[in-house]
Amino acid sequence: MREDQPFNSYLWDMVCSELAEVVGYEYVLTSEVDRLAYAVDIMWIPQMWVDQGLKPALPDLVVLPGTVNEVAAVIKIANRYRLPVVPCGGQSGSQGGTLPVYGGITIDIKRLSQIVEISEQAYTVTAQGGINGQHLEWALNRQGLTLAHYPASMHTATLGGYLAARGSGVLSTKYGKAEDMVLSLQVVLPTGEIIRTLPTPKHASGPELTGLFVGSEGTLGIITEAKMRVDPLPQTRRFRSFLFPNLSSGLEAGKKIMLQRLHPAVIRLYDPYSTAKVVKRVIGLDVEGVYIVIGFDGPEELVALEEKLAWEICLSFGGQDLGSEAGLQWWEHRYDFYYPPFVKALPKLFGTTETQTTYDNIEQLYSAKKQAIEEGFRDWNAHYYGHFSHWYPWGVMIYDQFMVENPPDDPHEAISLHNRMWAASVRASLANGGVLNEHHGIGLKLGWFMPEQYGDAWNLLLKIKQSIDPLGIMNPGKLGFGPPL
Ligand SMILES: Cc1cc2nc3c(=O)[nH]c(=O)nc-3n(C[C@H](O)[C@H](O)[C@H](O)COP(=O)(O)OP(=O)(O)OC[C@H]3O[C@@H](n4cnc5c(N)ncnc54)[C@H](O)[C@@H]3O)c2cc1C
Repeated sequence: MREDQPFNSYLWDMVCSELAEVVGYEYVLTSEVDRLAYAVDIMWIPQMWVDQGLKPALPDLVVLPGTVNEVAAVIKIANRYRLPVVPCGGQSGSQGGTLPVYGGITIDIKRLSQIVEISEQAYTVTAQGGINGQHLEWALNRQGLTLAHYPASMHTATLGGYLAARGSGVLSTKYGKAEDMVLSLQVVLPTGEIIRTLPTPKHASGPELTGLFVGSEGTLGIITEAKMRVDPLPQTRRFRSFLFPNLSSGLEAGKKIMLQRLHPAVIRLYDPYSTAKVVKRVIGLDVEGVYIVIGFDGPEELVALEEKLAWEICLSFGGQDLGSEAGLQWWEHRYDFYYPPFVKALPKLFGTTETQTTYDNIEQLYSAKKQAIEEGFRDWNAHYYGHFSHWYPWGVMIYDQFMVENPPDDPHEAISLHNRMWAASVRASLANGGVLNEHHGIGLKLGWFMPEQYGDAWNLLLKIKQSIDPLGIMNPGKLGFGPPL
């Protein structure tokens, strides 16, 4: 029995018993230490809060269902008692999407981790939403296949989390974001109904329902199964890197590669600060200035031709060829930045504020964000830097970051600074043709900007939410949706 029961003890015992009837007693977690484990993701605020010995908002209960029917039954119980439900995958999200800010039941779906079918004829995999990303990739690799979705968090994140947050991997320029890979979903709605969307999203039968749930961050239902398209493992993968005289020439080269419809698996262009901070310090390349790495994969002959054409484009914009070794070194160390000793850590204050826009806006967007951070927070000696990755035929994403080495000690002052920096950064994005976010989601952190981004269309999103989740119990407070009704 817990000492801090959220509602009267008779009801609490009823809820626990009912949940245990559904999932089994061992899969209903009530201890404080278990609940604390579900009170944080990698958003800076709860991490800082816990680091200072303060207590974050805890879920009242955590359940780990093992089947889709159990997920549905748990949600029906939550409806009966009007308890908030927070879907949870690998908790690697950076936007506070799994924070139980209104308490309630956190549903961890990692026990739904089965591969239902790998079809070598259709080039598809159907798997449950809680499967770990790396496990899924290994299973596909054993059959000569790949999902080719390689976020830096794939060892932790889940398939459902990839889709719920509209994630993007390092090879997205060729293989697309998670939203481009998904064909069909099974979803448990906030009322406990289980639905399946059409077998593929390429239909002309009305609005596309798979897309409605992709990026919904657990606010419209729980993704319990997804059918994804897969690719054969490439015959070869090669990288080449260059130094450009300035950012403009690097951006022009990348744009031309995309407009010529070459299919690079990766293009990553670093601004000078990032070249120094990441490419030189972490990757270990002795370079300065604007560094770009370009990678191609697939059949040998095609890769050789695409690499040659990209090489010519880079040279024509003043690129200095660093050869393939420097590119390969980048590939082998591409995730080191996210792990000790290189990962940014408390007490530093930092945020990744990535956005995207069309090519005509991109330099202006970058400059406006740099100015908003470095001039707006000069007193804090704030740094802004970034790289350009996830390239499209129409534009490109900026993966940009801000950092303050010595934020205030007082947690409330630190949070105030954090929120002001986020506000300055995302407002600079919105004012310059960008969006709140490109692939990390909105979560709790950026929810309050959703009306600003959507304008008149925000009301429509609210109505969709209200009709699918009439009690407002599904991940309340996220994506800008309010508390439970
Ligand atoms: C070191 C590091 C590197 C990262 N690099 C990348 C990167 O390269 N690319 C990238 O895209 N992201 C990256 N991320 C962010 C994060 O890993 C992604 O957002 C990932 O997709 C989240 O998956 P998850 O399973 O951990 O989801 P969680 O953090 O558990 O949840 C994220 C959101 O999705 C909801 N959700 C989770 N599962 C479901 C489900 N089955 N149904 C409905 N809603 C659900 C949650 O309620 C929450 O709102 C990184 C994170 C870390 C820690």
